[in-house]
Amino acid sequence: MKNHWILLLFLLIAQEDPFQARRIEMVETQIAARGIKNPEVLMAMRKVPRHLLVPKELAEYAYQDRPLPIGEGQTISQPYMVAYMTSLIQPKNDMKVLEIGTGSGYQAAVLAEIVDKVYSVEIIASLGEKAQEDLKNLGYKNVRVKIGDGFQGWPERGPFDAILVTAAAESPPAPLLAQLKEGGIMIIPIGSQDSIQELVRLENKNGKIKTTRLGAVRFVPFTREK
Ligand code: SAH
Repeated sequence: MKNHWILLLFLLIAQEDPFQARRIEMVETQIAARGIKNPEVLMAMRKVPRHLLVPKELAEYAYQDRPLPIGEGQTISQPYMVAYMTSLIQPKNDMKVLEIGTGSGYQAAVLAEIVDKVYSVEIIASLGEKAQEDLKNLGYKNVRVKIGDGFQGWPERGPFDAILVTAAAESPPAPLLAQLKEGGIMIIPIGSQDSIQELVRLENKNGKIKTTRLGAVRFVPFTREK
């Protein structure tokens, strides 16, 4: 009986906004189903219009269970990976978060739905500028995008409660670790392009870094300014 009501609600929403219906389905089948429980993260994933942050011709694939190309050889992560990384920092509404690798702006938008302030650095100017424009048009006033090498972080805006790195580095950049608040958490994929990468959680505890390995992942490479 309960299922019938959910189906009816789903059909009503699908008529209003087909993309919202797909988001609700995405959260059920790809995110909640795989164990993400944080209510704020689920809410943000139901809300952010991912189809408006991918190239127009790919909008219809935006809610599928996979990464998509966003130009310049870069990708927007699979929705589950965005939800997982967001949940790992235990986001709260008073937090200030740094993201390295703005890309499409999608991860920044998901963070912006939950936390107080998002700072995001992108090394490819065309991507960073487009993301900034898209995020502005979507009404996100609490996100700042900077073009530059994220290796240096954003010292003028730090220290941060959490840092999310969305490109795979050989090792955690020291300037980023230095911009973590006491108790702050950094999530970063570590490893080279041709080896297995691993998602790592680093916590700044009494000035010491506590490392937790979280399993194999696949990200585009963290590049450096020449
Ligand atoms: N978070 C993005 C994922 C984009 S892919 C999203 O939600 O769409 C990773 C991004 O990291 C790419 O856009 C790439 O250009 C960027 N990147 C790689 N190395 C970087 C660096 N050193 N500093 C800043 N951005 C970097």
